[in-house]
Amino acid sequence: MKNLSIRIKITLWFTVILVVLVSCTYMVVFSVNRQLVQKTIRDELIRTVEDNVDEVEYYKNIGKIDPHEVDYYMAFRGGYLEIDDDFLDKVNEVYTSLYNENVTLLYGENPISKQTADLQFSDAKIQHLSINDTLYYVFDRKLTLEGLEGLWLRGVVSENQGMTQVAAITRLLLLFLPLFLVISVIGGYLFARRMLKPIKEISEAAAKIGGSGDLKERIEIGEGKDELHQLAAGFNEMFRRLEDAFEAERQFTSDASHELRTPVSVITAQCEMTLEETRSIEEYELALRTIQRQSRKMSRLINDMLDFTRLEMRAESYAQESVNMTELVQSVCFDMALIKEKNITLEYQVEEGVRMEGNRQLLLRLLANLISNAYRYGRESGYICVSLKSTCQGVELSVSDNGIGISTEEQPRIFRRFYQADNSHSGMGTGLGLSMAYEITKFHGGEIHVESELGKGSKFIVIF
Ligand code: ADP
Repeated sequence: MKNLSIRIKITLWFTVILVVLVSCTYMVVFSVNRQLVQKTIRDELIRTVEDNVDEVEYYKNIGKIDPHEVDYYMAFRGGYLEIDDDFLDKVNEVYTSLYNENVTLLYGENPISKQTADLQFSDAKIQHLSINDTLYYVFDRKLTLEGLEGLWLRGVVSENQGMTQVAAITRLLLLFLPLFLVISVIGGYLFARRMLKPIKEISEAAAKIGGSGDLKERIEIGEGKDELHQLAAGFNEMFRRLEDAFEAERQFTSDASHELRTPVSVITAQCEMTLEETRSIEEYELALRTIQRQSRKMSRLINDMLDFTRLEMRAESYAQESVNMTELVQSVCFDMALIKEKNITLEYQVEEGVRMEGNRQLLLRLLANLISNAYRYGRESGYICVSLKSTCQGVELSVSDNGIGISTEEQPRIFRRFYQADNSHSGMGTGLGLSMAYEITKFHGGEIHVESELGKGSKFIVIF
């Protein structure tokens, strides 16, 4: 059973159910029909005999009988018995006949006359008589009108009469129910096969991806909204995310090796050059300082890359809380204003009581990245202005400077990973600060953009 395909299992399941259902239908129909037919026959027998009771009359004297008279007359006890022409002696296989109390047949027809000769009359009661495996119903009525004393009407009918109808219905059922069963099973099998076709395609696509490792492969099962289409869409989404994750990893490895190559080459070259001959203490010190600078840059780069990848891949779960932005911006600005670089002044205009849902650590990082860029690309004795306010669009945070600015062409590219504009000659950056700011903003459902003019300054605006 375990090795059977789902469609065979489904088909088997409803075949069994249908067989049980059909068998039960047979039994119910047969027994209900039989009971119904028996009741109908008995009712018919009683009705016919009762109707005939009024059709027999006794006359002491009837004079001359009209030759056109259709009723039947017979001499009886010095008078006449009149059997009306409405008397139904044989209708629907119900036979009614007139007897005297000695069970002598006076009028009518009784197919089992001989067998009923010994059967005592019993007024208004149905008696059963079994003759050659056939059940007969016998119904007697005593005639009570004056002159008719001692006369009985006896009706008989065979059960076979009704059972032929039951047999006909059963024959029909015997023919149609198996036909219906076969059509249902075949139809059900084809339907299950059609319905489960997407599963086959899903498993084939999954096997193909497993075999070739090509995550670009997608499951194509056309339009639809049922569970299988949802499953396929779920798989496709999973493949897309896996592809993105692998692509990000590949890109990270390539970027990391590319970015680390420069400091490593500088350190190697510096070491080789210094070791070529004996150097003075000053030359050794100079070489060591270069090596130290490059090592620091490498370490910064590695840290930034790891942080950035963790954020981009959502590898860490960053808890969300209600962050007091007023307090956060004030404390970051207070600390960073202490940086004595290029004699730059940092000012801040912060609205009171601004709060938002977010991750405190990430928001700190975002602001620190923007402010350190403003220092890095600021001019001598320049200024930096940080502002925080609540607007109709949301919480607006901006960092502006009067530094070197960014050209219009480069502005759309500066948020890319490792992108460094032409103006960044300091060699201190890693090219990851703004892409991290972009990811942090995206994480908080916000937007970041820059307004800048080369040589005049820049303004980074974040709206949450
Ligand atoms: P980096 O580590 O090089 O600063 P970022 O991702 O922080 O990398 O910034 C990308 C580039 O955008 C920088 O190399 C620089 O050219 C430019 N940039 C960023 N901030 C400013 C700014 N405040 N003024 C001028 N240029 C900037």
